[in-house]
Amino acid sequence: MASKSRWADTEEDTVLEAKQKRDKEEKKRLKAEKARKAEEEKRAQAEAEAEAARQRAAQEQQNQDDRPPAKRRKITPEREGKEDGGKTTDNEGGTKLLRFEAGGWGKARSVENYDKLNDIEEGAYGWVARAKEIKTGKVVALKRLKIDSSESVGLPETGLREIQILKDCSHRNIVELREVVVGDDTSRIENVFLVLEFLEHDLMSVLGDMPEPFLASEVKTLLLQLASGVAYLHDHWILHRDLKTSNLLLNNRGQLKIADFGMARYVGDPAPPKLTQLVVTLWYRAPELLLGAKAYGAAVDMWSVGCVFGELLTREPLLQGKTEVDELSKIFELCGMPTDDSWPGFRRLPNARHLRLPKSSPVNTGSVIRARFPLLTSAGSSLLSGLLSLDPDKRPTAREMLQHEFFRQDPKPKHEAMFPTFPSKAGQERRRRRSTPNAPGRGQKAADLGAVDFSGIFASREKEERGAGFSLRMV
Ligand code: ADP
Repeated sequence: MASKSRWADTEEDTVLEAKQKRDKEEKKRLKAEKARKAEEEKRAQAEAEAEAARQRAAQEQQNQDDRPPAKRRKITPEREGKEDGGKTTDNEGGTKLLRFEAGGWGKARSVENYDKLNDIEEGAYGWVARAKEIKTGKVVALKRLKIDSSESVGLPETGLREIQILKDCSHRNIVELREVVVGDDTSRIENVFLVLEFLEHDLMSVLGDMPEPFLASEVKTLLLQLASGVAYLHDHWILHRDLKTSNLLLNNRGQLKIADFGMARYVGDPAPPKLTQLVVTLWYRAPELLLGAKAYGAAVDMWSVGCVFGELLTREPLLQGKTEVDELSKIFELCGMPTDDSWPGFRRLPNARHLRLPKSSPVNTGSVIRARFPLLTSAGSSLLSGLLSLDPDKRPTAREMLQHEFFRQDPKPKHEAMFPTFPSKAGQERRRRRSTPNAPGRGQKAADLGAVDFSGIFASREKEERGAGFSLRMV
């Protein structure tokens, strides 16, 4: 019972005052209780968030290294002032850092701003269409983001990489990403579209339809542009990892642009020790990848550039292996067997341990390449055999390629404005396709070649030439 107040006039006042005091105390207690509960909830939420972040980090770690190394996005100093510069900024060390605007495409516009004109490419793998922006009438290419079956939840890694890398790049030989737009149901990843500048052709379609191969001067123009785009990527620590003729676009002004960055990734310096081997479409895949190398670098792209070079000369893909073993055997036929001299250290690669190789290789890359491309000058075949060196360290870099004497010799590279034009498939109908293998999907597993016997490869080839057939023996 509360003691009587000196100011209480009556018994009633005393009771009232005591009640008010009790009410006040109860309110205070409830408030404290509420604060404690809120504190508890906050702590639980923070713990849940931390746990989710930890799980995400663990998952990422497990998804092997294959993610852009945010802290390592540094680039080598420019050696040439000719690049289109782009979205790069200088830091105090004189090197350049890419500017990356995080989350910029969160406020994406609707795909309804575009009218579809025609499909360019529609298949199990992806969808690309020619479209027109309603407001401006500008023609663009719309590419739907692929659903990645290997991702159980969340965003498709390949699509995100493609967006991030394309946003960072600005170079005349790399396709321009104008914006990212979304369909009505933004929760569905297949409703995310890349709006790309439109180019009339891809090189594979052009090569497939050409009655005559490109002239030497035209091959040089195309290769210089390809090397320039690749040099820009490598300067910016980006590996494309799927260079091939269907990913090289060509417009009617003779400009070549590298497209399809679904397999691309940032690498730091030094490159991560564990990268996925399952990259690059089989026919353009470097021997170190086929032999299971997990540490690799820009030279994998240079091998693909070599394959594209050969294809530009003959209009046919250079190394059309049916399987990984067959691809390797075609490579060895063209480039010779690896030896400790020609490729020091190749025996340490995971799939090389089981290879049975002939004691000596009767071929030398240069002579086979000269025989296969008789019209190529000696500078041309030295560049091609350099790009197709089995040892990745012996391949020229893209910057070195740009300086190669092949491009200084006559016939000189044709001026882009003088480049021939071709009827556009993409402008009217779907592009006609030769059937070619695709880049491996993220969920796929790299093949373990096991034991493969290459020891009779050259003898067998002679037999095949005499009509006896040639096959590889698995041992
Ligand atoms: P995917 O990742 O599905 O292979 P790509 O980016 O390689 O998609 O595009 C597939 C095809 O679509 C290309 O070979 C080319 O013919 C066409 N294409 C892609 N981007 C463009 C573009 N910007 N302009 C015109 N055609 C394009």
